[in-house]
This record gives sequence, C-alpha cells and structure tokens, in this order.
Amino acid sequence: MSRSLNVAVIGAGVAGLCAARELKTQGHRVTIFEKANQIGGTWAYDTRVESDPLSLDPTREIVHGSLYRSLRTNLPRHLMGFLDYPFEKRPNGDSRTFPAHREVLCFLTKFANEFGLVELVRFNSEIVRVERVGERNDEWLVESITRGCDSVSGEVFEAVVVCSGNFVEPQIPVLVGIEKWRRYQIHSHNYRVPEQFRGQIVVLIGFGASAFDISKDIATEAKQVHIATRSPDVKLGKLENHNNIWHHMMIDHVCEDGRVVFQDGSSVCADTIFYCTGFKYRYPFLETNGVVTVDENRVGPLYSHVFPPSLAPGLSFIGIPVKGPIFNTIELQSKWVAHVLSGKVLLPKEEEMMASTNEFYKKMQELGLPKRSTHFLTPYQVGYQNWLCAQIGLPPLEKWRYQMYEESVKNIIEMRDGYKDRWDDAYWDGIINL
Ligand SMILES: Cc1cc2nc3c(=O)[nH]c(=O)nc-3n(C[C@H](O)[C@H](O)[C@H](O)COP(=O)(O)OP(=O)(O)OC[C@H]3O[C@@H](n4cnc5c(N)ncnc54)[C@H](O)[C@@H]3O)c2cc1C
Repeated sequence: MSRSLNVAVIGAGVAGLCAARELKTQGHRVTIFEKANQIGGTWAYDTRVESDPLSLDPTREIVHGSLYRSLRTNLPRHLMGFLDYPFEKRPNGDSRTFPAHREVLCFLTKFANEFGLVELVRFNSEIVRVERVGERNDEWLVESITRGCDSVSGEVFEAVVVCSGNFVEPQIPVLVGIEKWRRYQIHSHNYRVPEQFRGQIVVLIGFGASAFDISKDIATEAKQVHIATRSPDVKLGKLENHNNIWHHMMIDHVCEDGRVVFQDGSSVCADTIFYCTGFKYRYPFLETNGVVTVDENRVGPLYSHVFPPSLAPGLSFIGIPVKGPIFNTIELQSKWVAHVLSGKVLLPKEEEMMASTNEFYKKMQELGLPKRSTHFLTPYQVGYQNWLCAQIGLPPLEKWRYQMYEESVKNIIEMRDGYKDRWDDAYWDGIINL
C-alpha cells in the first residue's frame, strides 16, 4: 500500500514544479514555498541586480536571478522539456530551437497551469529554517516569513524536498594583487545588459557556456574583450570573426595601475574584471546539526546527489547536479523521491547508502577529481540518468538525448559562432524519429 505524506517543497523553479507534479501524482499533499511572487525560478528574468556587483557584502539584498537580457538557452529545446511533456513550439512564440529565456518561462507556466501546480504555491513565502523534530525524528519543522509580515510562522511536515536552486551565490577566485586593483569587478550573477561596458576594456574569466555568450554580448559595446581561461584546448589570440575578442592564458596577477598580466607575461590595462566563475551551493535555512554540509562545493553526504543517508527519506534535494541535461535529471530525481516517499520504492539501509556515497567520494579522489566537481554530471550523465530510471522501473532514456547533449556541448566548446542558429533541425528530427 502506498503512503500519502504531507510534503513541503522549497522553491517553485523547474525542480520545485517538477517535484510537486510527481509528488501529487503519487498522492502526496504538497505545499510549495516560493520566496518570489511568481513561478519559474532562474527563468523568471529579473532586471534587478545586487548592490555589490561581486555579491560579497553579507548585508546586501539577495537577488535570485542570474539571467541576462539576451540569454537564449544553451541546449536545444528538445533537452529542456519533460519526458511526457516536451518543450514544444507555441503559436506566435519563439520557435527557435534555442529560444530566448522568456520562452522557457512560458513553457514552465503552461506546465504549472496544466498540472494544477500554481494553486499549491505559497508565493512571497521564504523558508528561513528547516529542522528535524518529532518524538521519532520523523517530522520536519519548516519556518517561513511572508513578505510584508515580520513574524516567522512554523508548520510541521512529514518530508521536505529542497529545490532552492544553485545559481545564486557567486564563486569568486582571489587573484594575486587584487587588493590593490581599484577598478570595477563584477560576477555574471549581476550582469544583465552590455551597455554599461561601452568603450571599455574588459577581462573576462571563465570558459563555460555563460562566458562564451556574455563575452560576445559585451563585445557589442566594449572596446576590447579579453577572455582568460585555464583550458588547455583553447587557441590563443584573436577570435576568428571577431575584431575585439581575444583568448588568453589564465591571469597571473593584477597591478595597482590597472594592468592585468596573463601567465605568458602579456598584459592589458583593463577597466573591468568580469568573473564567469560559477556559483556555490548554499542552504542558509537548513539546520541539520552538521549532518549535511557544503565543503568545497560538495553538498554531502548525499546518496546519489539526493538523499542524506541519515535523514532519508524525509529530507531530499532535487536539482543539485550541474553540467548535464538538467531538466530530465530533475524529472527523474523527482519521480524517485516521490516513489520513495510513497513507499513504492525502498532505499537501501542507511549504512549501505553511506558506504555507496563514500565509495563514490573515494573513486573521485583516486581519479584526482577535486571535491568541487562532485556534482558535475558530465561524463556520467548516461549512467546516472539510467540508474534513476531503473530505480523507478522506467526503461533507459532514448539514445538521441545523449547524442544531442554531447553535440550541444561540443558546439559550445568549439565556439562555433552562431551554432544556435546553424543547428541542423532536419538531421535531428530524423534521429529522433528513428
Ligand atoms: C545564466 C544561466 C543560464 C542557464 N541556461 C540553461 C540552459 O540553457 N538550459 C538548461 O537546461 N539549464 C540552464 N541553466 C540551469 C538552470 O538553473 C536550470 O535550468 C533550472 O532553472 C534549475 O531549476 P531549479 O528549480 O533547480 O532552481 P531555480 O530555477 O533557481 O529555482 C529555485 C527557486 O527556489 C526559490 N527559493 C530559493 N530559496 C528559497 C527559500 N529559502 N524559500 C523559498 N523559496 C526559495 C527561488 O526563489 C527560486 O524560485 C542556466 C542557469 C543559469 C544561471
């Protein structure tokens, strides 16, 4: 017989909405707490930025969004739908294969409306504390503050699913000499439009999808954009088809007079250092007496990136893995959590989950992988997603999904300008329909 629990979901982004749908399908009673006044999380473009462009000031008001105005998806829309609910073209919508961000929000809004999820959301309700309580340690106190009302209200749930997102707290590397560098610095979290860099010389650090997109966006206004990267695969020098973008080795140090010196000794005098250096996981509301920690960007211990063994199944995390096909991963994790909470799928014993988690950490260490890459899905996405499928009795995902993901990543890395508009739809339609 299946159990129906009273479940709190934190966040109404992709993960929260997806989790809510799966929990509802399994007969659970769901409340989604969302601190914003709308659904969509990251995909709800916010023109506001934080008062500190590096987001280091602890007294700043935190802005959740990290999208910039020109952002288009970096994956084809086929990889940004759900298994039974594809991200289809809308009449009069943005029909491109890599649509602009607002199209993703439209898709999520339609999804939330069709599955009756909006009525489950408590908007403007920020979770400030989550703690395990109850005589048998099987309940969770969830405290929230509603905007406009100072008092904290507490409710008890039988399970909590954390879906609060990972792209909010910037990761800023410390450059040698930075304490004397008096010019402008910004992290991509606080970037929206390129006009502020008009006529400037900008040094941008990073080599991910955002770094590629933003460097080109800024180059429409800036005098010069210099991309500093650690990647050994990069062809240094001026980029083909761009008069004002260069690739460099990583920064060696920066100087008081504004110079940024790269590892090969070359330098530019920059107006701005722009960090596309990623984000840190952060769960300020979580009180687990040290059971769940964030250590060098490893959220742990988590069995298969979802359940902390000693707090499972009451506490779970959805959407932690990065660098992979996020939407389907979130969907499969959501199904797994919903099945586990209903008792239809059993988790291994706590000791077994812990042993498996430690084994995974040990393997990473043996392979020389840093802790900060614990939740990188690539190159394990096929194994991980199909493992999740097996947990809930689904067949492995279709091969085209992985092929398409790999092709997209290859395109980004090879920096084929305009690859989003040169995507061969006819070829991929053929592969999908095989
Ligand atoms: C610049 C950028 C570009 C991206 N491009 C792509 C792409 O092209 N394709 C792709 O698949 N993915 C992309 N991603 C990844 C993207 O994060 C995921 O697609 C997806 O949005 C993750 O959803 P989520 O629900 O985990 O988190 P989020 O979308 O961040 O949602 C979390 C929600 O939780 C709420 N919340 C947080 N804390 C609390 C609290 N204490 N109380 C109540 N509510 C809370 C937030 O307000 C938010 O609504 C991109 C991310 C960024 C930053």
